[in-house]
Amino acid sequence: MQLHNLAEQNSILNRFVSEIRNTEVQTDRMRFRKNIERIGEVLGYEMSKTLNYSKTNVKTPLGTSKIHLPKNEIVLCSILRAGVPLHYGLLNYFDMADNAFISAYRHHKSNPESFEIIVEYLACPSIEGKTLVLTDTMLATGQSLKAAYEALKPFGSPIDIHLVCAIGSQTGVDYVSKNFPNNTHLWIAAIDETLNSKSYIVPGLGDAGDLAFGEKLQH
Ligand code: URA
Repeated sequence: MQLHNLAEQNSILNRFVSEIRNTEVQTDRMRFRKNIERIGEVLGYEMSKTLNYSKTNVKTPLGTSKIHLPKNEIVLCSILRAGVPLHYGLLNYFDMADNAFISAYRHHKSNPESFEIIVEYLACPSIEGKTLVLTDTMLATGQSLKAAYEALKPFGSPIDIHLVCAIGSQTGVDYVSKNFPNNTHLWIAAIDETLNSKSYIVPGLGDAGDLAFGEKLQH
């Protein structure tokens, strides 16, 4: 797996990341969603540099312009619900992409500190020979991404896979690196040191789904 940690170079992305983390700013839900969307745009733009391009002629009113355009057929797949704003950011740039949505939630049994990932809903086009862009806003343990990938397997074999995440933990990065095929890239805006006992990223930002859409009753 190729890791692209955008935090290694200072850019305007730092502002968006600082705002989603900041307790005084993150309570503004609209701004929180917008910042995640902007992170999706930046990560998508960086990812676009690794796509395959072919020379194309564009007819203008005054002549013909030659330009290289991406030729990958992209399927954007997001994990509900926190992945939705990230999905929109990517869709702003890859507006011709097909789209898939998958639900994955943590099911806690008796012990609140252990859980299994339950995938219940999946709407997916064929991913055979496509470029699969799989997004999860918070890469905590990596188990949701892995469960989503397993659920997507019956829909075909992608030529490459791009995981797109806003904030991850080192544990999650190591896990996906071990559990995804070699033709996988991970695009991420920040990697934090630790997870707490409930597998939340520390310092992280809290619960991305709740911050984007409001608190849920389930835990
Ligand atoms: N999901 C979140 O929203 N936050 C985390 O820190 C981990 C998983």
